[in-house]
Amino acid sequence: MTPKFILRFDDISPNMAWSKFSAFDALSREFNIPLLLGVVPKCLDPKLAVEPVRHDFWDVVRDWSARGCTIAQHGYTHQYVTRCRGILGVGNKSELAGLPYEEQLSKLVEGKKILVQQGVWQPVFMAPAHSFDEVTLQVLKELNFLHITDGYGVYPYDIGSLRAVPQLFSAPKHFGFGVYTICLHVNNMTQRQVENTLHFVRQHKDRFISFNDAVNISCPVPGISLAIRVITTCVLRKIRNLRLAKAD
Ligand SMILES: [Zn+2]
Repeated sequence: MTPKFILRFDDISPNMAWSKFSAFDALSREFNIPLLLGVVPKCLDPKLAVEPVRHDFWDVVRDWSARGCTIAQHGYTHQYVTRCRGILGVGNKSELAGLPYEEQLSKLVEGKKILVQQGVWQPVFMAPAHSFDEVTLQVLKELNFLHITDGYGVYPYDIGSLRAVPQLFSAPKHFGFGVYTICLHVNNMTQRQVENTLHFVRQHKDRFISFNDAVNISCPVPGISLAIRVITTCVLRKIRNLRLAKAD
């Protein structure tokens, strides 16, 4: 099996870097590539406000949804309130992990309510800062979420009651098989990174699939999927935490 890719964008919010995102949007329309878009229901994170607000924000999200993009709920307000790294064991901040059930539930209920009111909610979750815990998984089950974009490995796997599609790299790297979620934060991308990613997508446009198609991919060789997940968990955790230590 040749590798497949998903193009994932975090931090979709009214004040995001539209000037950088627009080239990806145009490319996805040109080649009919459905994007995975992590929409912050009620963004109160000042770090995500980098360009003037788009007042037609929800019209734009509805348009993406109508043309087959996957809309994932990216937390609620995107404000980090704990230093909990969650199940994946990376980072040192979270909007949810470490909080009691009732608090996580009320945040995600409010977030879901906004997306439902805007007509764009789908049963897909994207955790801010990749940080969620066992309690988050219980809350997601309660709110009828089915899928999550995160975790190690190169094939979809089950976590709690959810089906997860892994997310390893922010660059288009791969091992020659499996499914890879390329995780992009346009607010922080340089023009060069934008150009390089656009080039890769153009070169491999037939290998880009929707998140919903990725959910149904299974590993052709039993046992390999778990083995790769264990290996990538160990290696990437070390690398990510080393980076974090350097950044601190
Ligand atoms: Zn985020």
